[in-house]
Amino acid sequence: MRQRLIIVNTSPDPLKPLRNQKALVTGANSGIGEACALALGEAGADVVVNYVSRPEEADRVVEIIKQSGRRALAFQADVSREDQVQAMFARMREEFGTIDILVNNAGLQRDARFQEMSLEQWNTVIGINLTGQFLCAREAVREFLRRGVVPDVSSAAGKIICMSSVHEVIPWGGHVNYAASKGGVMQLMKSMAQELAPKKIRVNSIAPGAIKTPINRAAWETPQAEGELLKLIPEGRVGVPGDIARAAVWLASDASDYVTGTTIFVDGGMTLYPGFATGG
Ligand code: NAD
Repeated sequence: MRQRLIIVNTSPDPLKPLRNQKALVTGANSGIGEACALALGEAGADVVVNYVSRPEEADRVVEIIKQSGRRALAFQADVSREDQVQAMFARMREEFGTIDILVNNAGLQRDARFQEMSLEQWNTVIGINLTGQFLCAREAVREFLRRGVVPDVSSAAGKIICMSSVHEVIPWGGHVNYAASKGGVMQLMKSMAQELAPKKIRVNSIAPGAIKTPINRAAWETPQAEGELLKLIPEGRVGVPGDIARAAVWLASDASDYVTGTTIFVDGGMTLYPGFATGG
């Protein structure tokens, strides 16, 4: 019998590629995390909406997901705190039974010139952006390994999507703590992917370029600032959270079944060295 070599659509319901999957998105009450939580819900997943402050924003995201017919739950946890992360995953298992998809999204900036950067600024950014991703990924992997592959749900035992940044490769003066955290996320992601691929766990990153969210409001909120920013973006527009959420749905679905250990740059070409387009 001839083997089928081309399988384009692996989902029984192409409009709901994440049907009945259980997802957790960290930092899901704002910006990119919110867009990912809503998109995963639209794609058929039940979603835990993690937040650390502003519970009313998390409740708003939960309500929208529920309106689309999926289950959703807001849970407060600081991703840099082991006890809080473990409590969050325990609650998710109680409520949803398991986890299939983790979007490791929570992150922040604490900017300073290098010589003025305090240890507190350094530790806060590394603690949330890097250690936070480790703590959440470890809990997710423990559950993926306990449960294994459930073929009716997904061909993977679990999927982890790390929210990185173009600054995993572009150095960023004045933000060395942030760039170091995202460089760390890159090797965390790749090393986990290498170690866990035999267990059918896929680990990938998304590296957003400039996306309009509260984290970088100053860079786009005035026409002058946006004009400066656009010089760095060959596509000529600043990104929006939906640009990232669509990539997250694909990475979470079986459509990307053979993709692991990779970073998808969703950046309008920011990493293409735009300064060399007319010079060099
Ligand atoms: P945002 O400020 O809108 O969202 C960040 C989220 O992380 C918020 O919900 C915040 O409450 C949460 N968070 C912060 N500390 C936390 C903690 N200790 N525990 C739990 N949650 C915490 O910004 P955003 O742009 O949506 O950022 C999301 C991710 O995308 C971050 O990892 C950021 O580094 C990354 N990113 C953003 C851009 C961009 O241009 N916006 C570019 C590259 C990467």
